[in-house]
Amino acid sequence: MSSKKTEISQEVPEAIDLVVARQALEEEKVSLLQKLEEMGFGGSGLEYDDNFADSSQVTAERGEAETLVSQLREALADVEFALSKIDSNRYGLCDSCGAPISAARLEAIPTAKLCITCVAQRSRR
Ligand SMILES: [Zn+2]
Repeated sequence: MSSKKTEISQEVPEAIDLVVARQALEEEKVSLLQKLEEMGFGGSGLEYDDNFADSSQVTAERGEAETLVSQLREALADVEFALSKIDSNRYGLCDSCGAPISAARLEAIPTAKLCITCVAQRSRR
């Protein structure tokens, strides 16, 4: 009986707490939606900003607001994508190579899509 080894999982070096991750993402989503709503872009106001962008009367102020709105929307899309990965049990896996993303990285960036190796490769060029 003494020869029996304790089994240690090698596949998952660091456990990712999906409950904590989901909560962080949900909170992020709510705050992003709030910001968009404050700017008048909440809900389904997706159709008309193309027209604004084309208008010659676009002010610098509006341009800044649009930049911010598109950043917020991008962040929101990232959050929703991360949530969908939790639902499909793929959260914490690199979108490029499929390797697990470290728990520390996910804690810092809950919406991280790539592992550190892939990020380094992309930024190196
Ligand atoms: Zn990767």
